[in-house]
Amino acid sequence: MKAVKKVLIVGGGIGGLCAAIALRRQDIDVDLVELKTQWTVYGVGIIQQSNVVREMAKLGVLDGYLDAAYAFEDVTINTMAGEQLARIPGQRLAGPEYPANVGISRLALHQVLSETTIALGASIRLGLSVQTLEQVGEGVDVLFTDGSRGCYDLVVGADGLYSQIRGLLFREQYRPRFTGQSVWRYNFPRAAGIDHLATFQGPAGNAGLVPLGRDQMYMFVTSHEPANPRMDAATLATQMRQRLSGFTGLIGELREQIRDSDRVVYKPLEVVFVREPWYRGRVVLIGDAVHATTPHLGQGAGMAIEDAVVLGEELVAGGSVEQQLERFMARRYERCKFISESSVLAGDKEMAHDSRFDRIGLVRRMLEVTAEPI
Ligand SMILES: Cc1cc2nc3c(=O)[nH]c(=O)nc-3n(C[C@H](O)[C@H](O)[C@H](O)COP(=O)(O)OP(=O)(O)OC[C@H]3O[C@@H](n4cnc5c(N)ncnc54)[C@H](O)[C@@H]3O)c2cc1C
Repeated sequence: MKAVKKVLIVGGGIGGLCAAIALRRQDIDVDLVELKTQWTVYGVGIIQQSNVVREMAKLGVLDGYLDAAYAFEDVTINTMAGEQLARIPGQRLAGPEYPANVGISRLALHQVLSETTIALGASIRLGLSVQTLEQVGEGVDVLFTDGSRGCYDLVVGADGLYSQIRGLLFREQYRPRFTGQSVWRYNFPRAAGIDHLATFQGPAGNAGLVPLGRDQMYMFVTSHEPANPRMDAATLATQMRQRLSGFTGLIGELREQIRDSDRVVYKPLEVVFVREPWYRGRVVLIGDAVHATTPHLGQGAGMAIEDAVVLGEELVAGGSVEQQLERFMARRYERCKFISESSVLAGDKEMAHDSRFDRIGLVRRMLEVTAEPI
């Protein structure tokens, strides 16, 4: 008999939704609560690499996901003028008939994951969170913010960088840290040559173009913002163009088209990593709640998705809940630590203007590590 039959997932982002799908596929009852009343996400895109495509196959969503995405094979690393330094071939980890990598709009990804979660019978409540958690015997009693109650075999905290559930388990021990960098993003019609992920190394930041669909791509650029200033929303387009000064070639051409501040998505980069088991009793944390990192390796959501799949596998692999969560940790900790630390390192090297840093080598190593079975 399964030790875990009924689970509460707190947070309906990428990690929470993938956990809901993974658990429902194992016939575990799932309640999911999401704080937002309007269950939407912001409208730029996300890079998902070969390990994510493999996990999407395990979640049984691959066909719908690929229909909503732009599939591509290679990643190029270029100078700020667009001269190619390296072309790194993709790895078809989901099988030879499936692509190596995809770019997908966050809205489209949310739609695929939320529709699958609903279709699989998870109960979803919006505008709601947890007021208190009490671990009693072999369960967790939960009081929700609307005064309702529930009793669960396991609670999964998938509530992101500022996780409330992390605070309930570890109090103030782990707080998000601003790394010194921010990211600026902007959508464009897809340029003909952008049929793969193209990155461009600037002296103080890294830019990139990510295809999202036949007609759409987005640009990102990182910048050093040591004082983490509050940006005036009306100036975002001008400021993004400034951060791109010095780039020539395609990035330089596109820079001049960044005119609408309302379409700039600006994000200071904050990180957190929990350096001890991510569970206490029958409450476990996944995704950004325990290992939020910078996007330099494009693997933050990838790690949240892998967490979800591995949790689903372990909860039906026998043993006590303690043993299941121990096995989950054994499969996740070092892998997520490597991604978290390597991503932060890449940003630190950009801020230090360290031209000797072997970024191409790091990307190759990341691809090797993430291609390994989990
Ligand atoms: C600029 C930038 C670019 C990135 N690009 C990439 C990329 O290209 N590829 C990649 O793999 N990753 C990327 N990432 C990382 C990726 O976005 C995150 O790792 C991923 O979104 C984490 O998912 P999550 O579900 O753990 O957390 P979140 O996406 O933060 O979701 C948490 C959810 O929980 C909800 N919530 C919060 N508190 C509560 C509460 N108390 N009760 C109920 N619900 C709550 C939130 O509303 C939210 O819906 C990027 C990150 C940044 C900042």
